[in-house]
Amino acid sequence: MNSPIQPPAGAEIMACHDCGLLHHMRALREGAAASCTRCGAVLFRRKANSIDRALMLTLAALILFVIANSFPFLTFKLEGRATTSTLSTGVIQLYQDGMWPLAALVFGATILVPLAKLLATAYVLLPLRFGRRVWGLAQVFRAAEIMHPWAMMEVFLLGVIVAYVKLSDLAKLELGIALIAFIALILTMIAAEVALDPREVWDRLGRQATAKALRPSASRSLLSCHACDQLCHVASPGHGARCPRCGAALHRRKPHSLARTWALIIAACILYVPANVLPVMTVTSFGQGEPDTILSGVKVLIQAGMWPVALLVFFASITVPVIKIIAMIFLLISIQRRSHWRPRDRTVLYRVVESVGRWSMVDVFMISILVALVNLGAVASIAPGPGAIAFASVVILTMIAAMTFDPRLIWDAQESTRDGQQTVHA
Ligand SMILES: [Zn+2]
Ligand SMILES: [Zn+2]
Repeated sequence: MNSPIQPPAGAEIMACHDCGLLHHMRALREGAAASCTRCGAVLFRRKANSIDRALMLTLAALILFVIANSFPFLTFKLEGRATTSTLSTGVIQLYQDGMWPLAALVFGATILVPLAKLLATAYVLLPLRFGRRVWGLAQVFRAAEIMHPWAMMEVFLLGVIVAYVKLSDLAKLELGIALIAFIALILTMIAAEVALDPREVWDRLGRQATAKALRPSASRSLLSCHACDQLCHVASPGHGARCPRCGAALHRRKPHSLARTWALIIAACILYVPANVLPVMTVTSFGQGEPDTILSGVKVLIQAGMWPVALLVFFASITVPVIKIIAMIFLLISIQRRSHWRPRDRTVLYRVVESVGRWSMVDVFMISILVALVNLGAVASIAPGPGAIAFASVVILTMIAAMTFDPRLIWDAQESTRDGQQTVHA
């Protein structure tokens, strides 16, 4: 599994996603995971009946998706009046309030991307299950993997919980059948994600390269595909070379990683100011109301004695974006200074930053739920504010920054100083 030096000729080899170290793979027992010997990243996990189980769960999720989008989600009752919302009411309300960027974001993250991901996964797994080959399987599976971080239903659910707590002392809230289907949908999609072994899918779409097929060659360089982990020999990297298995463009490192990541982080820093200064929403009740920023929203929660939710919103909306921006700047500077300081810990830091970022969307989703529910004209209404667009942009920019950042750059500084040693990176 983990000897970079002279593996058996028939062994499959794979480069670590996070540090680029080459590993030769040996068969694993079911349920076991192979980790990188240098940075600790999980290379892959062997799963039993992966395709069968993932396919069944994906089909079940599609049924739940239809139910979650067809029935009432939440009902808000106040002073004898009631508003019933479905999953898409918030999207429509945001659009009518002139907040189309937020409407597009909520629609994409909670409806469009999850549906596209489910359909794409079913499109790939169905023919594989029955041993057929249809058009574009590799391309569609690559697209499904790219969609993964942008499907944010679990973050939306946390937004529902925050909105529920916020409204619970103001009015009566009833849970609809769609909300229960929505929770079941999230659990089913997570189970499908856990059941699926992407390496098995890629293996069925084209065998992983073996050591024999990749004999050292002076004139060609060895590259690992960023999408499917296939190792390829390429004569001139970066000049239109494509992965023979999935068709993704091949690069030694993500192209212009440092410059792109810096640009995105600087843009996020600039937008962080309006995100915190401008109001994110305005609550009006019986003609009275004032705009709330993110921080004043937290204060309102504390004054109402809702400590756990206040802490959660403070952590997700204020702490996480700041820590994320600082961590990315630290990683960028450490690479530019060719730092040798704790590369493994810096790689772990990157992994945490990459996985935690999407949870900052909680506030944005909470606002979309509140504007959909609290819509009783003069009695009570909630309108979105421009700060919410700036805040959502900060979260999206930092998410893309984490994607354009290449953690293997952390390890390149270590490689370049080991003169005369065998090159083991890809
Ligand atoms: Zn590694
Ligand atoms: Zn590929």
